[in-house]
Amino acid sequence: MRTNNLKIHSENILPIIKKWLYSDREIFLRELVSNASDAIQKMRILHEAGEGAAEGDFKISVTADKEKKTLTISDNGVGMTEREVETYIAQIAFSGAEEFLAKYKDADKEAIIGHFGLGFYSAYMVSSKVEIETLSYEEGASPVFWSCDGNSTYLLGEGKRASRGTDIVLYLDETNEEFLHEEKLLELLNRYARFFSTPIELNGVPIQNGDPLWLKAPSSCTDEEYLEFYHKLFPLDQDPIFWVHLNVDYPFKLQGILYFPKIDTNFEPTEKSIQLFCNRVFVSDHCRDILPRYLNMLRGAIDSADLPLNVSRSTLQVDRSVRQLSAHIAKKIADRLTGLYRTEKERFLQLWPDIETVVKVGILNDEKFFEKTKEILVWKKHDGSWTTIQEILEKSEEKKVFYSTEDHKGAAIFDAYRNKGIDILIANTNVDVPLIHYLEEKMATTFQRIDGSLDDCLLDPSREKNMVDETGKAYSSLLADFIGSALKESEVTVEAKSLAADALPGLLVLDEQQRRARDYFVMQKINAAHILKKKTLVVNTNNKLVQAIDRLQHEHPDIAQEMAKGIYGLTLLSQREVEPKDFEQVIKQQTEILERLASLIK
Ligand code: ADP
Ligand code: MG
Repeated sequence: MRTNNLKIHSENILPIIKKWLYSDREIFLRELVSNASDAIQKMRILHEAGEGAAEGDFKISVTADKEKKTLTISDNGVGMTEREVETYIAQIAFSGAEEFLAKYKDADKEAIIGHFGLGFYSAYMVSSKVEIETLSYEEGASPVFWSCDGNSTYLLGEGKRASRGTDIVLYLDETNEEFLHEEKLLELLNRYARFFSTPIELNGVPIQNGDPLWLKAPSSCTDEEYLEFYHKLFPLDQDPIFWVHLNVDYPFKLQGILYFPKIDTNFEPTEKSIQLFCNRVFVSDHCRDILPRYLNMLRGAIDSADLPLNVSRSTLQVDRSVRQLSAHIAKKIADRLTGLYRTEKERFLQLWPDIETVVKVGILNDEKFFEKTKEILVWKKHDGSWTTIQEILEKSEEKKVFYSTEDHKGAAIFDAYRNKGIDILIANTNVDVPLIHYLEEKMATTFQRIDGSLDDCLLDPSREKNMVDETGKAYSSLLADFIGSALKESEVTVEAKSLAADALPGLLVLDEQQRRARDYFVMQKINAAHILKKKTLVVNTNNKLVQAIDRLQHEHPDIAQEMAKGIYGLTLLSQREVEPKDFEQVIKQQTEILERLASLIK
């Protein structure tokens, strides 16, 4: 038995490359312009290494000749000697970029794009023949000509190029003549090469390309620059509200800028929210995996030379390092938000309505994100000021957090709590239902909706009347019975209590757990009519209306009954327990009550 090397025959491999290696024909231009950019970058590196090469007026030009049906990509980079053409071009999958980098180890590696050694052959996806005219920078080098029509033989000989650099001439085949059109070429150059540092010309006219903003130090970028850059990436979007400039060296080398778009009615979710670059070369905008799902609505650009790309560089191979990368980006975003909270709280609070959903969904999905952002998880209080759970818990002996899903300022029930010095959080976003549940577990606290139970703090025992009638029944339960029978609502239990807020005629107590289940169902658009039918109406014996019912119940029982219904209707309204379709009925009922009362006055 013996071991031997598998042999690849070039007559077999070219058709394979042509057909299968690249999913997308258009990327031939990306590969050839990248090679031109590499060749120029190598000149820069050689110059810095003091190898005599002159710093030049570097330029890449792309020229289409509609008559000859050729497309030429030229550069004034390092060029190639005959030996180099044989080694790097004629040997498929032998990357000159890797060899160059191995030699100039300390050079600015990030600037060199190639490393698969296959890019050049993507030219055959669109061409029937490719020619190279090249002259190496090396002293005394002579120009070289190479030509190959995609079969396994090539011509190699003396060339015509008079100045340093390389022309790659593509003889486009019939089916690919679209690549002679200027608009098409411009579109492709804008897509793939807009962030190349070397000037690029198309048919003699410079295209708009240049360094991407992510390369600039965050401290020297202005807001205007960030916005301008955003519109370069997403021309049709409205201004974003906030951004995070990523500049990571460890454990990955990664740069980029991620933006929080304004999420309003104009917001359109898109698959193409992140543009991925590898050494400034556009790779793909279908790479959701680079961010955790909960950051899906962020938009921006990420450039990393460490990305695990497939050979065609068009897709990201989802592997462990991509997951690490995505976790790392999430961490950076959390850091940035925390930093903003600590240093520019005003601005942070201003942004909060636009970013809170992202933060909350992040917390629910990622424990590490929760740990990093719990200190910035702010809540609006009933009086319009801001607080955090931590702050509330420091004040509360029972470790209880009171909340309301309504932000109806001035409601009597808020006053009842405020009179006792208790803060109420407003939790009115969709994610708050699951978030509250999560925080209860994580922060060893209980959240209680202000109408979730009759909390002791709402009672005023000092004004409790303990009178009983001749049968020994308490005054308050008699009143409750009267109101209960007036309502004729079998699912509603009535209690009469001395509440601390006089202005509040009644309070509907709705079981906390059932209420949450209902909110959750409603959020999921599941019918929740069967949940929470049973309710308790607590009427306030310190309220003037309730006291009037008490006075009138014997002399004018019909009026007292109407008033009881009125109180119930008002309470439902104030706690948003009336379906909009029933508004009319409640209004009608209230009007009738007022009419009856008016008729009493002669
Ligand atoms: P890679 O770029 O991954 O190394 P390519 O197939 O794209 O692989 O290119 C192979 C090699 O050919 C390059 O590494 C480089 O040495 C050489 N080469 C290609 N194009 C040029 C060019 N325009 N100028 C100089 N050398 C080039
Ligand atoms: Mg290449």
